[in-house]
Amino acid sequence: MNPQASRSRSRASVSPDAVARDISSLLLPHAVVGSPASPRCMVGGRGALLWDSSGRQYIDTTAGLGQCAVGYGHPQLVQAATVQMQRLASFPMFAGCVNEPAMRLADRLRAIAPTGLSKVFYTSGGSEGVETALKFARLAHVNSGASERTLILTRKGAYHGITAGALAVTEIDAFHHGLKESRQLSIPLSLPHARPLGPDATDILINELEQTIAAVGPEHIAAFIGEPVLGVSGMIPAPPGYWPRLQQVLKQHRILLIADEVATGYGRTGDWFACPQQGIEPDIMVTAKALTSGYIPMGAVLFSDHVIDMLHGTRLTHGSTFGGHAAAAAVALANLNIIEQEHLTARAAKLGTQILQQLKPLEELPWVEEVRGTGLMLAVELTPHATAAARELPARAAAEGVLLRNSPHNVCLTPPLVITDAQAQHISDVITTEIRTLGQTRSTRAGTASETV
Ligand code: PLP
Repeated sequence: MNPQASRSRSRASVSPDAVARDISSLLLPHAVVGSPASPRCMVGGRGALLWDSSGRQYIDTTAGLGQCAVGYGHPQLVQAATVQMQRLASFPMFAGCVNEPAMRLADRLRAIAPTGLSKVFYTSGGSEGVETALKFARLAHVNSGASERTLILTRKGAYHGITAGALAVTEIDAFHHGLKESRQLSIPLSLPHARPLGPDATDILINELEQTIAAVGPEHIAAFIGEPVLGVSGMIPAPPGYWPRLQQVLKQHRILLIADEVATGYGRTGDWFACPQQGIEPDIMVTAKALTSGYIPMGAVLFSDHVIDMLHGTRLTHGSTFGGHAAAAAVALANLNIIEQEHLTARAAKLGTQILQQLKPLEELPWVEEVRGTGLMLAVELTPHATAAARELPARAAAEGVLLRNSPHNVCLTPPLVITDAQAQHISDVITTEIRTLGQTRSTRAGTASETV
C-alpha cells in the first residue's frame, strides 16, 4: 500500500455516512436513477493531489474532467477571483455593456490562438460553446445567401456536449439513449482511428468524406465539427495527413471547419492548442475547461476573419447571463499567465512522452490493444474481453492512492499539467501493475465469459 494513500488529513471531516445522507437530494450525472451511488466526497486539493472526506489522499490522473491545468488550490487564481469579485463579480455583456477583464482576455486569447482567429465570444462552458459555434456557422451561411446549408458533418466517437445541438453532433450511442430525434442535424463519418483502419486510413476517410458530400450535396452542409484528438472516445489522434487533406476538401465545398478544443485547449497536448500541431486552420474554435482551470466555469469561442466577414451585418440574437463573466475572465487571465510562466505546455509534452514510454510495454499483453497519447492526454485501450475486469481498476488504483477513470475499455489519463515527476512515476507504476494483474482475471482471455475471479 502506498503510504500516500493511507495518510489521513486532519482537514477531512465528512464521514462516509454523512455523504450517503447528503446525496439524498442529488441527481448525479451518469448515475442510475433510483440506484444509490456511493460517490467520493472530495474536500480539498493542492497541485495534483486531492483529498476525500474519509481523509484519503490521491494523485489525480483526471484533472477533474481534464479542466484543472494548473492544479488545485493555486493561490494566484484565488487572488484574481477575490480582487475582481470585490470590484465587480459579473455583469452581463448585453445592452451595450462590457467589462474590463473580458476585453483584456479577448486580446490575450487572440494573441495565443492559431493564426486568423480574431474574435472571441464567451460562454459558460463547452456545450454552450459548441452550440454557439454551430449556430453562428449556420447564420454565417444564411447571411451569405446559403440558407439551405443546415447540416453538420461529425464523426463516430465524437463527444461535443449535452445541449441539443452539441448532442446532435455527439456520436456515442449512450448519450442518445431514449431520445429519438436527437441526431437530426448531423451526418456521421467514420471514427478517424488509424489502428483499425490500417495504413490507408487517411485515404479511406477522405474518400468517405468526398462521397458523403457528393451524396448529401454540399449546398446542404454548413460545417464539419471535430476534436483534434478524440477525448471521450479514448484520446485518439487522427491518422497522419488527415487534417490538411480534410480541410482542403471542406474549403472546396465552402463547408466551415469547427475545431472542438474544449478538451485539448490551453496546454494539454503540449502546445497552447492542438490545431497548429495537427495542421488545422479552423474557421471556428471552441474552448472551455482549462481556460480557467475550472476555478470558475467559462468558455470562449474564437472566430476567423472569414466567418466574421460572412456574418457581417447580422445581429447576433444570442448570449447568456454568464457569458463574459468578469471574475471568470480575471481568473482566466491569471490562469493563462501561470501556464506561460510555469512553462506548462512544455511540461505536458515532456511528461506525456515520459509516461507514454513507461506504459508502452503494456502493449505486449494480449488484453491491451494500444497505448497512445498526445501530451498529457493518454489512454491504454483494453480489448473488449478485458472490459468487465477493467471496471475494477479505479477502485484498485484508489487503494494505491491514484484517482483513475476508465470509460469503459480505455484507461484515460489527463492529470493536472503540474503533476510532479515523482507523482507521474507513481501513476505509471500503479497502472502498469494493475493492468498486468488483469491477466489473473478469466474475463481478459478471449473466448471466455466476462467473469472476474
Ligand atoms: N467538447 C468536448 C471535446 C468535450 O470533451 C466536452 C466535455 O467533456 C464538451 C465539448 C462539453 O463541455 P462541457 O462539459 O463544459 O459542457
